[in-house]
Amino acid sequence: MLFKQIFDRESCTYTYLIASGYGREALIIDPVHEMAESYVELINELDLRLVLAMDTHIHADHVTAIGPLCKYIEGCQSAMGVHSKAEHLDIHLKEGETLNVDGIKFTNLYTPGHTDDSYSYLMNDRVFTGDTLLIRGTGRTDFQNGNPEQQYDSLFNKLLTLPDNILVYPAHDYKGQTVSTIGEERRCNPRLQVSNMQEYVDMMNQLKLSDPKKMDIAIPANLKCGLRD
Ligand code: FE
Repeated sequence: MLFKQIFDRESCTYTYLIASGYGREALIIDPVHEMAESYVELINELDLRLVLAMDTHIHADHVTAIGPLCKYIEGCQSAMGVHSKAEHLDIHLKEGETLNVDGIKFTNLYTPGHTDDSYSYLMNDRVFTGDTLLIRGTGRTDFQNGNPEQQYDSLFNKLLTLPDNILVYPAHDYKGQTVSTIGEERRCNPRLQVSNMQEYVDMMNQLKLSDPKKMDIAIPANLKCGLRD
């Protein structure tokens, strides 16, 4: 499998480019608007054909590139979970459904809590957790219809039911950590060391976080898949 984890320094976003090999069809997860040209260069260099550009959720901290990529690359379709309110999506992914991109199979898991449209994508030995499960953290739940109860449920009753050796690839990391596993997060993630839902909810409600710098620009832009009128 061809697997690239690409970092955007500005927003500390991880974007994933995946294909079953050189010269094959590819998909990209959580691409960043300002990086679109560099993705296209890489895609051309690796002789890939981008057919799917998908986001894990409506991001508040950066503008997505799924719209521009699909506009400029013929045959590329944009996708998000059915709960997304974004316009211009070609595909609405459903919970539990498995898709196949040229031999790369992935299953959509609805994991709300950080936002009400958050999905995780399970692909063989790895899961792309968006901002639901971060490395040693979990996504904030205080805006975009976030909900700590739902996030507890997504974490404990969905993601943590996966086998311990499943690799965890989040949408962000602010400390340079690149990958973890379900087992490692279960043991070492401070947010997961709670004994019940109420403890988790209280902890999340006590976080006093400032809004992301680009929030007022990013959310409206992402509701149009990063496409300008
Ligand atoms: Fe987010």
